[in-house]
Amino acid sequence: MNTKKFILQEKDIPQAWYNVMADMKNKPMNPLHPGTKKALKPEDLYPIFAEELARQELNMTDAWIEIPDEVREMYKIWRPTPLVRALGLEKALDTPAHIYFKNESVSPVGSHKLNSAIAQAYYCKKEGVTNITTETGAGQWGAALSMAAKHFGLELAVYMVKVSYHQKPYRRSIMQTFGAQVIASPSMSTKAGRKILTDHPNYQGSLGTAISEAIELAMSTPNCKYTLGSVLNHVSLHQTVIGLEAEKQMEMAGEYPDIVIGCFGGGSNFSGITFPFLRHKLNEGKDIRLIAAEPASCPKLTRGIFQYDFGDEAGYTPLLPMYTLGHNFAPANIHAGGLRYHGAGTIVSQLKKDGLMEAMDIQQLDTFKAGTLFAQCEGIIPAPESSHAIAAAIKEALIAKEEGTRKCILFNLSGHGLIDMAAYDQYLAGDLTNYEVTDEDVAKNLESIEKII
Ligand SMILES: *Cc1c(COP(=O)(O)O)cnc(C)c1O
Repeated sequence: MNTKKFILQEKDIPQAWYNVMADMKNKPMNPLHPGTKKALKPEDLYPIFAEELARQELNMTDAWIEIPDEVREMYKIWRPTPLVRALGLEKALDTPAHIYFKNESVSPVGSHKLNSAIAQAYYCKKEGVTNITTETGAGQWGAALSMAAKHFGLELAVYMVKVSYHQKPYRRSIMQTFGAQVIASPSMSTKAGRKILTDHPNYQGSLGTAISEAIELAMSTPNCKYTLGSVLNHVSLHQTVIGLEAEKQMEMAGEYPDIVIGCFGGGSNFSGITFPFLRHKLNEGKDIRLIAAEPASCPKLTRGIFQYDFGDEAGYTPLLPMYTLGHNFAPANIHAGGLRYHGAGTIVSQLKKDGLMEAMDIQQLDTFKAGTLFAQCEGIIPAPESSHAIAAAIKEALIAKEEGTRKCILFNLSGHGLIDMAAYDQYLAGDLTNYEVTDEDVAKNLESIEKII
């Protein structure tokens, strides 16, 4: 193994998050109030979210938003994260491409999610909130928020997608160790959960359903707010610390990426690594490709349509203009639980529509093959989600080899897979399969949402 690391100092942790909406020519279209169908104002979100987060969500004018000292102080536990040149992987692929990855797996909970969890818990605490709720897929967001909630003295209830609750019991233990209450979703504790269990008693859950349950609990509990780990603009905003650090580190390496890649669930780590580079494309016309790597079993960017749709299964959220497979889409039980979401954030959706970024869909078996090769070359076992980005980076590196071009590729390693070993076990035993989504499945789901607007 032969890697090269680029390390920043504490003082290099960014002072401000980058808000790409300020620099976009075509701003994302307005989210709509689910009742009135009128353009959403920050005040409409105050009952659900901390007020500062609601303002960040709809802020289209300030390119830089200062990171509070208390949040930066917490970031120091593990930030700045390393940028690594993956020399081992380059050698294994025998490619002239240079491959770099930003290692967000070094956070205490093993993923990038803590970048936003700390910020969200901080603003809730500052505004006098005592309880928060959320959903979690594979448990990464729930784990991050549990740690942040404990630090700021908030009570947390987490709805965890049932399939992951059973597939990833140790993430549940992590949340409980940090003092959170964890409920498998769908549950009988909410109207949304009871309804879906009545219709489909064996339903293994989805992020969309878990979000409905968490919002419902927040709305029926005094002094309680809901928090979301992806999709929304303010979550993407907080994640830009990843790309802002990577920008400095690429400079240290004396290179500039031709291609920047992130795996894609709702878009937060993709946004985090790419938006600071996108700013050079928007403001200086830099030639750079941004690629979102999504699962073939949940292909909202590659095969969904751009439409107003709900962010959750029950239809509690505002209507968001986004690429979607339909809010009632039930994705296959793939191991990349964090990528099993029906829609994409509104910023990313606008960027995709405007041709400012691309998407690539990846089959489950290809992700595990890529993840295993990466582990053997670089010594880090990647999260199944992150392996989508690795597979995309490998694909691009092999194209560069065919063309004989010395492309510079940067991807985000969003998390490690040490709590996903049951998935690796299944892969090694030959028990994992690919999942095909038929055009009929996609069309059938989309029919139901075209009626919304
Ligand atoms: C949650 C998660 C993702 C997907 O979420 P995004 O918001 O799209 O980044 C990707 N990788 C890891 C490790 C995750 O925990």
